Amino acid sequence: KVSLPPQERGIYLEIATALQSLEMNGKRAMKSKKTTKGDRAERLAEVLEGSQSAEEALLKKTCTFDLSSESVTALKACERIIETREEQKLQCEEDLKNNCISALRQRLRILDHHPQWKGMKQTEKGEVQDRLALFVDDVAKNQSIAGGADEEIHVAIKKILDSAQEEVKKVPKKYDSYYAEVNGDNTSDEDDDDKGKKRKRSTETPKNVSKETLYAMKFALREHMHGIRTLGKELCGRTRSLRYFKSVRDFQLSHTDIKCPSCSNGKTLRREELGVLSSCGHVGCLKCLVDQADKERCIHKTCQAPVKFTNVVKATELGADGDHDEGGKHGAKLSQIVSNIKRVVDNGDRVLVFVQFQDLKQKVAEVLEENGLKTLQVKGTVLTQIKALDVMQKEVPGPKDPRILLLTMDDESSAGVNLTTCNHAFFVHPLLANTKQQYHAYETQAIGRVRRFGQNKTVHIWRYFAVDTIDTEIFKERTGQDVN
Ligand SMILES: [Zn+2]
Ligand SMILES: [Zn+2]
Repeated sequence: KVSLPPQERGIYLEIATALQSLEMNGKRAMKSKKTTKGDRAERLAEVLEGSQSAEEALLKKTCTFDLSSESVTALKACERIIETREEQKLQCEEDLKNNCISALRQRLRILDHHPQWKGMKQTEKGEVQDRLALFVDDVAKNQSIAGGADEEIHVAIKKILDSAQEEVKKVPKKYDSYYAEVNGDNTSDEDDDDKGKKRKRSTETPKNVSKETLYAMKFALREHMHGIRTLGKELCGRTRSLRYFKSVRDFQLSHTDIKCPSCSNGKTLRREELGVLSSCGHVGCLKCLVDQADKERCIHKTCQAPVKFTNVVKATELGADGDHDEGGKHGAKLSQIVSNIKRVVDNGDRVLVFVQFQDLKQKVAEVLEENGLKTLQVKGTVLTQIKALDVMQKEVPGPKDPRILLLTMDDESSAGVNLTTCNHAFFVHPLLANTKQQYHAYETQAIGRVRRFGQNKTVHIWRYFAVDTIDTEIFKERTGQDVN
């Protein structure tokens, strides 16, 4: 059981939140506009860093905050996160603006045919509500984000909507592939027709639209507004997590000329009095933070982020620059695993280490080697694989033989091999499986490599969980045991 230090925990939480918000968006898939660079799908891919699913990405994060072989401290990882998140927030703002522009233009087209539709509030029978008008109203009233936001976010969204409206004032009509089909605009997206002549793209409102087409145009706009609201929510989440990471970094760099927004009377807080909320990144004195957390509120009057006690992070817990690497440069969990393996190996025992994902396996191998622990992997041709396994099967290992075998949990190559020379099995993280049966089948097979006839020593099973993360969640779901 490993408690992640606050910096690592922050990184984990941030990614968990980002994945959650992005996944929710994914379900209500909005037609992705090719014109916008860095749309949501792309941003999601960046967070996933080559993982197949959100769960996989999170499992890896509990093991080490950085999979690249470049060694970094949590502070450096923090800086890097700030950098990429800042970039992604900009992309999100750009995306939101472009979608607003597109929606505003679509409404102009609709109003050309049905001027009275503007601001249509009640959903009359056979009529579509003008949700763009509703959105504009909500933005003005600081109510555009479901679940609430804060002053900074509302100001940002107002600015985005304003600049979108400016843009549409300047160029009210423009070809828009997002709406072309529904508007019955069959001008192709190509610049040239087959005779090689420039063809003017249709920028006009389609003439003589049927009642059905007009309805479809309104309905498409209504659906688009869902997507725009979701983008607003994404921006809210991104602003909060970016703010949190900036606060964490500032604490680590001992930039502590910070005042409490709710009580300080302009007095600068001492480091021991300071805290930050992981839910929204707002900073203040610990007493006020805890008092407000009791009411499930943030200390900022305009901030509506839901706050729990566990969101209050003390500045002293975050450490100052210089003592920030309590988890070591590879993170708390891997550091602990390595030191335990070292002890076992020094004792003369041999070890199997199970990991599920290739890139994580590579990382674990690197860290073990770096700590002077010779590690064997089953890979390459059948012959080299057999040779590798032979080494592990020697009754008495030579002084220079590796004593650690690193396996992926579903390694077919060594499935039937007797490895009773090893009497320790290390599970770096709980297995991500589709079903309970699959989970238990893999585990039984893995443990079966060492716990079988011919084993003379006591078998030790080591399982590693980062407290209060997807690790403990999966284990509880699969086994019913709560290890938190
Ligand atoms: Zn205070
Ligand atoms: Zn707040």
